[in-house]
Amino acid sequence: MPVRTLSPGEVLDELGRLHDRLARPSQLWLDYLQWYGQHSRTKGLEATFWPYKPSREPGKLAGALSVNLFGAECYQVTAEIVAIISEIYQNSQGLTGHLEQAELPADAGFAWLDEPVLMTDVHGKRSTHRAISWRVISFPPGPTGAAIRLTTWSHIEDPDDYSETMDEKLAGLGPLAMLHSTIIPFAQQLPVGMTEQGYDSSFGWVHALWMFMGTEIAAAQRPQIHRNFARRAMRSVKQNQVNVVLLRRAAHHEGGGEHREIDWKCCWLVQGHGRHLEGYDGPHHRAILDAGRRHCLTCGARATYVSPYVKGPDNMPLKASRLVFRVSR
Ligand SMILES: [Zn+2]
Repeated sequence: MPVRTLSPGEVLDELGRLHDRLARPSQLWLDYLQWYGQHSRTKGLEATFWPYKPSREPGKLAGALSVNLFGAECYQVTAEIVAIISEIYQNSQGLTGHLEQAELPADAGFAWLDEPVLMTDVHGKRSTHRAISWRVISFPPGPTGAAIRLTTWSHIEDPDDYSETMDEKLAGLGPLAMLHSTIIPFAQQLPVGMTEQGYDSSFGWVHALWMFMGTEIAAAQRPQIHRNFARRAMRSVKQNQVNVVLLRRAAHHEGGGEHREIDWKCCWLVQGHGRHLEGYDGPHHRAILDAGRRHCLTCGARATYVSPYVKGPDNMPLKASRLVFRVSR
């Protein structure tokens, strides 16, 4: 049975408890991270934990993961948004090949998914993702010197193809256990087309979520948190707010407004990008924005930033003001 929808206060509790467990890891946690590290090393994948080597020093990775959660912005993603992202992220891969720091909703975050996401891996097995976390880190090997450490978390109550073999190992860790952790350097072209080969990209899904959160059709609400939850969170992660991510709905149904159901399977995300405001000298090129996002670094002409948006089946951007949304099923 999937867990019931948590209140925002309970989501904060999950974040705080996960942080505390990693900050003072039990022997079980250390054994688990070491086992994971050895498994990754055998496959030549231990670099995903850079600069840590959990096969030898699992405590350092646990410490880094807890630091990543400390002070992190907390998000609760509604089941409706989870369903939409799962429908559109596949169409968006290949159009959104790299990550930029400006796309992140926060430099450090923890996002709880009200509905777990099932992802198929290279072995054709499915695993459930219940939460994700990330933090911007310095990453000298990368082209920009910065990256994010992206970690996905599974929940003991969400069944998947690994449940039977893994449950005993995971049961003692707490409800959340590390599923994957990896480094995504900024501005680096990432492998695409994974879904075409029959498996999912958890980064592709998360990137789609971040982009979606940056569009005008997404909204974040900060509900009042009961003081018991707020106090506990303050003690462990030094922050006590939750951003509930949901669709921005038209305030009222205006006469001229369109009313239709959206087939999200036929939508895709357009990544935020720079655009020249007028003509420029030299050969045709895409605008690369300067830090102030007002000029193109290549030609110096005036340019602007176009926020990410969702394109609908008619090839037009979806506008919150003109649409009343319902998830099509
Ligand atoms: Zn230019």
